[in-house]
Amino acid sequence: MIRQIFGILVGIVLGLGVLPASASTTISALRVGPEPEQTRLVFDLSAAPQYSYFTIDDNLPHRLVIDFKDTKLAVNLATVPTNSLLINKIRTSKPATPGGTRVVIELTQKLTPKLFALTPKDQFGHRLVVDLPGQSIQRSEQVLSVDQLQQRKVTIAIDAGHGGNDPGSIGPTGLQEKRVVLSIAKALAEMINADPGMQAYLIRSGDYYVGLRGRSRKAEEINADLLVSIHADAFTSPKPRGASVWVLSTRRANTELGRLLEDKERLGDVLAGIDSSEAEQNNQLQRMLAGMQLDSIMTIGYEAAKEVVGELAKVTQMHKREPQHASFAVLTAGNVPSMLVETGFISNPAEEKLLASNKHQQQLARAIYNGIRAHFIRKPPDGTSFATSRAIEHVVKRGESLSLIAQRYNTSVAAIKQHNKLNSDTLRVGQKLQIPSSR
Ligand SMILES: [Zn+2]
Repeated sequence: MIRQIFGILVGIVLGLGVLPASASTTISALRVGPEPEQTRLVFDLSAAPQYSYFTIDDNLPHRLVIDFKDTKLAVNLATVPTNSLLINKIRTSKPATPGGTRVVIELTQKLTPKLFALTPKDQFGHRLVVDLPGQSIQRSEQVLSVDQLQQRKVTIAIDAGHGGNDPGSIGPTGLQEKRVVLSIAKALAEMINADPGMQAYLIRSGDYYVGLRGRSRKAEEINADLLVSIHADAFTSPKPRGASVWVLSTRRANTELGRLLEDKERLGDVLAGIDSSEAEQNNQLQRMLAGMQLDSIMTIGYEAAKEVVGELAKVTQMHKREPQHASFAVLTAGNVPSMLVETGFISNPAEEKLLASNKHQQQLARAIYNGIRAHFIRKPPDGTSFATSRAIEHVVKRGESLSLIAQRYNTSVAAIKQHNKLNSDTLRVGQKLQIPSSR
């Protein structure tokens, strides 16, 4: 399902190909193709490339720098689709020699690239191939079953909105919400399950529909500490964009967007032939109220949502910078705190493109994960390993970055920063950090 999206995004960008008198060679196109084990970049050139390259690994971001001698660039690198987990950005920099071109590929990790030139063949001319080894697209991941869930882990029920006959919102080029949100949900589940203190349960793990009550009931059944419902919605005009996070309110939403989203959510049940009447929902609310837990459940949901908003704001534009209130049926999950994440507006052409990209999906999932984790580190549920764990002290050594340290201890940069009340990413040698541990 997701492979189709990748296929579309592996684009070809053609330049104008104007050959100036000063440079003997022109780069006319750059193609970027992420594969499961590597990313392959191909530069199309008017003549055999004269090039040299080096990598920069001692400060972030990791970079691959390629110098083309006597070469003009006729490609706008900013428009080249770089839908790979390994690539942050492709840009130019000051050339090493006059009349040359320097291309800088900002990488998300340290790697050893392989470069080689190819001579003209078939419809292709001279090319320079750059292979970047490493996982470049998200592979399908293991999904935990109910009996694999452990008691001492913080349990997150993940609900990918819509599915099956209910595609959810559809973007201007036909991108379906149900597909985007399933990809984000799976990526989020994988991140959570890689965390020793947490585990995820995917309420919907394929392209099928689950009734709204069925979704929240599942979260109750597995005693989830939090239910996260993931959506990417649309508005009646293409202009609105940005993410927002919604939490349960006992009243109907008082904004136009909130009401629209509530109706959209119900539409799924209507399409699936499930009756989710207001009466049934009110019953559920009454049951929660009778348990006198509603306040604390809504407070936990709100606090967790606030953390997620803060993390999402780092990777995407926000439509709202505070959690919003609405009475989504799916959020009414007994004594389980809940939130609904609108990852962006699929109706906005620019955001539709972003939401289709595996890299952006991963960033959104990472932000949601960081936010949830930060919340549960701060407020660990009783009996979980987060509540009983002790912090480890780490003394910063030369060359260590927060992300490197976070990786080593299988935690997140956000968690370390929060635990140590750090405001910046800058570390100094000899600095002592408390590493929140979940062992
Ligand atoms: Zn939706």
